[in-house]
Amino acid sequence: MSALLPPSSLAVPEALQQPVWPDPEALRTVRERLRTALPLVLPTECDVLRRRLAAVAAGKAFVLQGGDCAETFRDLSLGTVSRKMDTLFGTADELSEAMFLPVVVVARLAGQYAKPRSQPVETRDGVTLPSYRGDAVNGPEFTAEARTPDPHRMLQVYAAAGATLNAVRSLLTERRTALGQREMFVSHEALLLDYERPLTRPDARTGDSYAGSGHLLWVGERTRQTDGAHIEYLSRIRNPVAVKVGPTATPAEVLALVERLDPDREPGRLTLVARMGADRVRDALPPLVESVAAAGGQVVWICDPMHGNTYNAPSGHKTRHFDAVLDEVTGFFEVHRSLGTHAGGLHLEMTGEEVTECVGAGVAPADLPLRYETACDPRLNRSQTLELARLVGELATPVAG
Ligand code: PEP
Ligand code: MN
Repeated sequence: MSALLPPSSLAVPEALQQPVWPDPEALRTVRERLRTALPLVLPTECDVLRRRLAAVAAGKAFVLQGGDCAETFRDLSLGTVSRKMDTLFGTADELSEAMFLPVVVVARLAGQYAKPRSQPVETRDGVTLPSYRGDAVNGPEFTAEARTPDPHRMLQVYAAAGATLNAVRSLLTERRTALGQREMFVSHEALLLDYERPLTRPDARTGDSYAGSGHLLWVGERTRQTDGAHIEYLSRIRNPVAVKVGPTATPAEVLALVERLDPDREPGRLTLVARMGADRVRDALPPLVESVAAAGGQVVWICDPMHGNTYNAPSGHKTRHFDAVLDEVTGFFEVHRSLGTHAGGLHLEMTGEEVTECVGAGVAPADLPLRYETACDPRLNRSQTLELARLVGELATPVAG
């Protein structure tokens, strides 16, 4: 640690996966503009979601969380938002009818613009540039200009997220007249703390701090260190929060997260998103679920069957097989059934478009190049998402009697 840092900074935990912004003055200006901007979501809405998730924790509801791995400015349109919503609602209806449970819809939307990367730089043909970290940070094109982190992009994210939420709210109003009451919440990974912290503000009613960027924020597998800056940030906000847990997570780590993020054991406050991989879920998940239950945790357990099942196809495309996705969900339900706990939900990378990014259920490996459009991880297309819901519905149908 540099001797130039004041002693108080010793207490500030390190934030992993943050971009190196080349222009500190520009960053200061952007942070100040975000600090004085209107919040995108209301504390009261976040409280409603916490209550919905409390019903999930109690086994009386199911949650469907889904959307792109990474939203992009390029793909944002009324059509893409509308089709994503339709696919999420169609999936939720399918699950709801099979399970006889209400399904809470939480989109990965209106803020999912920053990505963790395994390598800070990327080398192509002898040229090394910063990795693409999502549209919130830099551009995907492999040029020095595009890859240089630009804090002004966070203002673009704020504008895009605001416009997306405006579309969501309008579409919900339009559908409400046709379909009755429909609710949708928005969520994203709280990765970029230079975006999240300035958009956090106290609720006028209680003085509690709420993230203004989305209803539910989660911390990913790579930034979930109990003493790290991301978990510290989640611990300070009153929104419902989630943490991804992979196959290397130990019961002690998960218990430390429960203690840190949900010391009062408040149902709906904390969601744990298990992303184990189809080959690990049956052995890696039970000790975690059991230790949380033993510690009195009232968490929601959600299955992310995407991130543990990624591989490179011979064509070079990063993909996932539909059968592995279904197998992980099946294992997740088996584990909860055998422990007598509630399989609370699904977390999917999906889209309303008929892309060809995941194989199986109608997409052959040779189809991958046809519509491979993701900016990051491969998504289930609309048909694959609905097919998964149908099959999950079958395995989750309560046994009569
Ligand atoms: C993601 O959700 O896109 C992601 C990076 O997941 P994880 O943190 O589980 O790896
Ligand atoms: Mn992803």
